[in-house]
Amino acid sequence: MVPGHVISLYRKRLGSERGWIKKDWGGKLRVALVYPHVYRVGMSSLGFQWVYHLFNLRDEVVAERAFLPDGHEMSLYRQARSPLLSLESQRPLKDFHLIAFSLSFENDYPNILTILELAGLDPESSQRGAAFHLVAAGGILTFLNPEPVSRVFDFFAVGEAESQIPQMIDVLYDGVQQGVAKEELVEALVEKIPSIYVPARFEVEYGENGTITGWRSRYSGMAPKVKVAKCNPASMEIPYSPIKSPEIEFSEMLLLELGRGCGRGCRFCAAGFVYRPPRFHDDTKIRKFISEKDGKGIRWGLVSSAVSDFPHLDEMGQFILDQGCSFSISSLRADSVSDRLLEKIKSAGQRTITLAPEAGSSRMREVINKKLETEVILNAVRQVAQAGDLNLRLYFLIGLPTETQEDIEAIYDLVKVIKHNMVKIGAPRGRVSRIRLSINCFVPKAFTPFQWFSLEHIDLLKDKQKWLKKMLVKEGGIQVSFDVPKWAYVQTLLSMGDRRVGRILSLVHKYGGDWKKALRYSELNPDFYVYRPKDLQEILPWDFLDHGIRKSFLVNEYNRALEGKLTPSCKPNKCTACGVCPMV
Ligand code: SF4
Repeated sequence: MVPGHVISLYRKRLGSERGWIKKDWGGKLRVALVYPHVYRVGMSSLGFQWVYHLFNLRDEVVAERAFLPDGHEMSLYRQARSPLLSLESQRPLKDFHLIAFSLSFENDYPNILTILELAGLDPESSQRGAAFHLVAAGGILTFLNPEPVSRVFDFFAVGEAESQIPQMIDVLYDGVQQGVAKEELVEALVEKIPSIYVPARFEVEYGENGTITGWRSRYSGMAPKVKVAKCNPASMEIPYSPIKSPEIEFSEMLLLELGRGCGRGCRFCAAGFVYRPPRFHDDTKIRKFISEKDGKGIRWGLVSSAVSDFPHLDEMGQFILDQGCSFSISSLRADSVSDRLLEKIKSAGQRTITLAPEAGSSRMREVINKKLETEVILNAVRQVAQAGDLNLRLYFLIGLPTETQEDIEAIYDLVKVIKHNMVKIGAPRGRVSRIRLSINCFVPKAFTPFQWFSLEHIDLLKDKQKWLKKMLVKEGGIQVSFDVPKWAYVQTLLSMGDRRVGRILSLVHKYGGDWKKALRYSELNPDFYVYRPKDLQEILPWDFLDHGIRKSFLVNEYNRALEGKLTPSCKPNKCTACGVCPMV
């Protein structure tokens, strides 16, 4: 039975949105784009919104959205025993040819199983039979490590969406028109698109110690590696979020991508490696796009892995203001802060500046390749204080490789000096800016030089959090938030896991999201993935993905981290250090 309350809720939601697309279904390829979290979270994702736009650009496609129902909505579904519906036409997901998930956060994985169950689909690809619903995934996690959810999906589209969607539509549309069977269609995708990964085509082999010894292809003539798709900004539209909704946090903001990738080479940061090389969209093209967008008063959320590396960001800010619009920037590099830029940010109405020193000691910043001297951070802080009316948010990581108690104390010392500077400048003017700290646990990520490290034991992470909290509370005037070490453990398991971890996910689903129970009843030892430092020679679960980054480069970076040596930032077109550039 279709729940009337859900339909009313969805129609009301559509009534309050601006920018969504309603298409006639006749003869089209039907695509359900699913975000494995609730509506307000999914709609805050630029990638998810952009993919919606890319699919709907094509006349032969109708793409609609679906989300994890939130508490009230979920109970309506459960009461009515109704299958999950798409937002636009309120049709069951089973009516779509392609059900495509966008994967950005590992801890959302259990939601995928909940959504498929609600949709009336088996969460295991091999159990779904020949019925025509291709269940696929894209998004950054598919080109970091898709293995823990490999049993769920018929295929993954690994890499940047723009390079894959047009071809994918061609193959699927033709196949659907000709009534081609699901398996043949998957074959056709693999044949035409080198970035399509079909987990069922590989078998993973394990040694006695539990590590991977290799992959065996179930088919002959297969490429040994799956090529991760990249795109050239010169040949693409500027990605933006086309839909505004009052339900999302920044309801009046449209997100706009300035660039992709970051060339600074912080050794813990996945985006800094898998989006290589760093690329910015052309300044003139962005200006044209903004000026042609209908209406003044748009607030542009400028997005990039390294926004403040965008050349002449202050001038872009002034241009946006001149159009009668405003903007906001997620975070700035301390060495990119300038009085001019801060002035534009203030004029745009932004009240908080975010800096990410990541570590308190110079030694630790050298280990992670964060090329920022303490004095550079303090200079940026002083500029923020002098600009007035700006609060400060600071990001730090704890549990980093080689970290000692002195490094933790250095976070406290640095924050104390920062506060001292803010007070010294702000007090005579009658306003001392607020300081907020976000202190998160380091979680190792695939394709980074830190992929071989483990998570620090959660008891130690808790001790470090406790110590910092005590000291910072004593200091006063500083707001601190920490992430939860238990969730860092889960994230590490899902980031570092191989296919077998999928069995733990099934248990989590079976026990209604109870991770503790699932881990207790699992025959797999999760600590094997979370607390075991990996051997540099070991075959890693994601080694079959080809980003163009040489593994020897990552090993070298790992060794340089242990030696506390800095590595220079990317110099696109002038460097071949990691192996990516010649391939793009
Ligand atoms: S080849 Fe050089 S410039 Fe290109 S991504 Fe690698 S390190 Fe950066």
